[in-house]
Amino acid sequence: MVDFNLTDEQKELQKLARDFALKEIRPYAEEHDKQGKFPAEIAKKAFVVGLMNLNIPEKYGGAGLKILDEVIIAEELAWGCSGISTALSVNHLATYPVILAGSEEQKKKYLGMLTSEVGFASYAVTEPQTGSDVAGLQTTAKLVGDEYIINGSKQWITGASVAKWFYVLAKTDPSKGHKGMSAFIVEADIPGVKVGKKEDMMGQRASTTHSITFEDIKIPKSNLLGQEGAGFKIAMHAFDHTRPGIAASAVGVARAAMEHAVEYSKTRTSFGIPIAMHEGVNFLISDMACEIEASRLLAWQAAWAVDNGIKNTKLAAFAKRFAADTAMKVTTDAVQVLGGYGYSNEYPVAKLMRDAKIFQIYEGTSQIQRLIIAKEIFLR
Ligand SMILES: Cc1cc2nc3c(=O)[nH]c(=O)nc-3n(C[C@H](O)[C@H](O)[C@H](O)COP(=O)(O)OP(=O)(O)OC[C@H]3O[C@@H](n4cnc5c(N)ncnc54)[C@H](O)[C@@H]3O)c2cc1C
Repeated sequence: MVDFNLTDEQKELQKLARDFALKEIRPYAEEHDKQGKFPAEIAKKAFVVGLMNLNIPEKYGGAGLKILDEVIIAEELAWGCSGISTALSVNHLATYPVILAGSEEQKKKYLGMLTSEVGFASYAVTEPQTGSDVAGLQTTAKLVGDEYIINGSKQWITGASVAKWFYVLAKTDPSKGHKGMSAFIVEADIPGVKVGKKEDMMGQRASTTHSITFEDIKIPKSNLLGQEGAGFKIAMHAFDHTRPGIAASAVGVARAAMEHAVEYSKTRTSFGIPIAMHEGVNFLISDMACEIEASRLLAWQAAWAVDNGIKNTKLAAFAKRFAADTAMKVTTDAVQVLGGYGYSNEYPVAKLMRDAKIFQIYEGTSQIQRLIIAKEIFLR
């Protein structure tokens, strides 16, 4: 039986997120974008109303929500500003590996660090020389006595400058490819951890992204997540949980762009009629509406599957790929609908187009999503 009705609780969460986006995000989006300002004050407010750490079980101080609930919230917050919403939701990707593979002690300590007061954690996998090809990473972790010594560099790490700890993937046995990779929790303030300067990004500029270097850092053996060699699997499994939310965020951005395009097209006239009445314009908007709806349904389906214990790797890749490409197309077409005004930073659609691009890149590019889908079709 298929039921597309939201429960009363889900409607309340949606309203909470929508109101928060309207009152606490949208009015500050332009300023944060222009200045590349991290939304620390907005995060404090989101923390208080319960819009952070949605995925962390209540036992460890989080909201303990289902992924479908997260997805509903993600669309609304990203509708407000996806740079700000990415900053607010960065903990999801870092914490899923701990939730999925951590010991009770690790969960209490490291999830608790994010829920006792407003705090951040980052997922540190990508490196300067390798992103899509995760198995090619070069960071190493060597067990010496009761400690691992980690050396290497990470690149494009969201939230690194504000993170209390990082989820780090490193090679414990470089001869074994992805089976020789292990996952670690690395506290940000230990000697040898250096966070680079903030990257000057095209879009989602409120979110803060940095390189990190590890120079002979020493972490206790107890900070290994799961078993040695399980790191790659843990890192990829986390994506099954987070990609539906990324897809929903892309939907939020696309929806915002379409709303601007609809409003503008009703008031702008050409050849004596509102541009909305030209088929060339309203077909663009019809396609936006249709593809946004399809993206949302894919995101909900991928979330519903994982919530119900169904393997969703392919569904999550469907959702991420389709919604990311849709957000890019819809925002580009929204700029087109606004004509010259669309190209101006005085109007919001130019920012939405810049913000949309990253959905096709982070958490696995659109090409990598296609590879995952093809692998699921041909190799399963
Ligand atoms: C703003 C931002 C935030 C990010 N946040 C994080 C984070 O918090 N943590 C983290 O670990 N990483 C993060 N990343 C990194 C991101 O996940 C990578 O940039 C992404 O996975 C792509 O890797 P790459 O940049 O090395 O590109 P490459 O892997 O070098 O790819 C370059 C191009 O080649 C294509 N390509 C590569 N291999 C194939 C293939 N086999 N078939 C077809 N096409 C292929 C890619 O799709 C891409 O178009 C972030 C990146 C950005 C820009």
